[in-house]
Amino acid sequence: MTTPVYENFINGHFLKNQTGDTFAVKNPATDEVIYHVEIADEFIQNAAIESAKQGFAAWSAMTPIERSRILLKAVAILRERNDELAKVEVLDTGKPWQEAECVDVETGADVIEYFAGLAPAQVGQQQMVGNDFYYTRKEPLGICAGIGAWNYPLQIACWKSGPALAAGNAVIFKPSEETPLGAIKLAEIFIEAGVPAGVFNVVQGAAEVGQWLTANPNIEKVSFTGEVGTGKKVMASAAGSLKDVTMELGGKSPLLVFDDADVSQAVSAAMLGNFYTQGEICTNCTRIYVHKNVYQQFIDELKTRTEQNIIAGDPMDPEVNLGALISKKHQELVLGYIDKGIQEGATLLTGGKALSPASAPNGYFVEPTVFVDCNDDMTIVKEEIFGPVMSVLVFDDEDDVIQRANDTHLGLAAGVFTKDIQRAHRVIHQLQAGICWINSYGNSPAEMPVGGYKQSGIGRENGIETLDHYTQTKSIYVGMSNIESPF
Ligand code: NAD
Repeated sequence: MTTPVYENFINGHFLKNQTGDTFAVKNPATDEVIYHVEIADEFIQNAAIESAKQGFAAWSAMTPIERSRILLKAVAILRERNDELAKVEVLDTGKPWQEAECVDVETGADVIEYFAGLAPAQVGQQQMVGNDFYYTRKEPLGICAGIGAWNYPLQIACWKSGPALAAGNAVIFKPSEETPLGAIKLAEIFIEAGVPAGVFNVVQGAAEVGQWLTANPNIEKVSFTGEVGTGKKVMASAAGSLKDVTMELGGKSPLLVFDDADVSQAVSAAMLGNFYTQGEICTNCTRIYVHKNVYQQFIDELKTRTEQNIIAGDPMDPEVNLGALISKKHQELVLGYIDKGIQEGATLLTGGKALSPASAPNGYFVEPTVFVDCNDDMTIVKEEIFGPVMSVLVFDDEDDVIQRANDTHLGLAAGVFTKDIQRAHRVIHQLQAGICWINSYGNSPAEMPVGGYKQSGIGRENGIETLDHYTQTKSIYVGMSNIESPF
């Protein structure tokens, strides 16, 4: 059987590359190649820049309300095609249908809708300075690049294009080479909605294509989602042409469960924050600090629910709630971390092995895994694993656990479970993380800015402030009287 070959999406249509080079994309749940994608060669790269220049000229000349109307049409199409798009995400990522069907497309559409609504609300300032005055305009940056990770491919493309397009920019987006189809679908939807050709282009490939984007002097900004190490390379390369950067990077986030917490709720949060999307979520609370008074109760319930309530298998089966990891390589990496945890003295409470479910025997599954008897120096407690692996630690003192939670160069997210309202805020205010939850975990509505402290990121996505990351302020001074000059 021949599989489809997708070309790059430039200037409103698919465009064939000249080298003929392609890469294969596998379904992580079956280990089968499902399609090929052409790599963006020099011809495509040049065409993408020309296309984006023209797209920018047309799009930035429209009024914000016109842009808003068009983007809202795209939102409606995204929602109409929810199931078709969700299926693309399941086949590309290996995540369960029951998640993609209600989260991936929906949360992407929400963010475009949110920024479409804000587009006409962007205003400058005006201020008198003596008899003269100045005013400011919020102008788009020009061509912005988006580079995506593989865990939420369509959602990431929406989260980056929503504010960029609402502010009047053109975008060249490079999805992860593991999950390239969602962004193509979004590009088609933008065209169908009436976004002019050239405003949203998709280039395909791995690191080399990403490097080209970050180095190209025609591009004003790079918004990157991926690993900390890659983020550093992207930022260094972007510095060559002084591009603005947004960095959405990795985490090793703590969840603090105090002894007055609703323990069942805390277990729910811990499971969501470690096993949803088979653990491949940047904000996951992979370090769970539990107060010694409720530790036994917490791990007893956690073990029971993990062993009884998780169903791994064909991700398209609506009953399945644990999918396959993105690749064989990633599965091996995660299993390697589990081995390291055992070697360094942590105790496996449950899980720890690769899985081969009857309905998806060739998929890259890993059992939902919980380590107890962990300490802060273990590799599994320090490094991002990006799989279904949770480490549980004990504490008995509030100040001490805050210090332990903060003892990391990462700072993406954090959570606190307690019924003491003052403690909840007192503790969360001291945690060094950009995205925090009290008696909750993982929700990320379009209205709420998200991004990391420390090495977890720079800038924010979502929320009103993100529009500032896609605009530049022009100040215009207006003289109302004769110029006073010594010359
Ligand atoms: P990755 O860093 O390997 O790749 C991300 C993207 O960068 C891919 O499109 C890749 O092709 C591209 N790339 C690779 N090398 C590049 C280079 N030198 N220059 C430019 N682009 C380059 O990350 P991944 O494995 O795809 O994703 C997992 C990581 O993403 C995890 O660390 C996770 O925490 C992080 N993540 C963060 C967020 C967030 O919002 N903070 C969201 C999702 C994922």
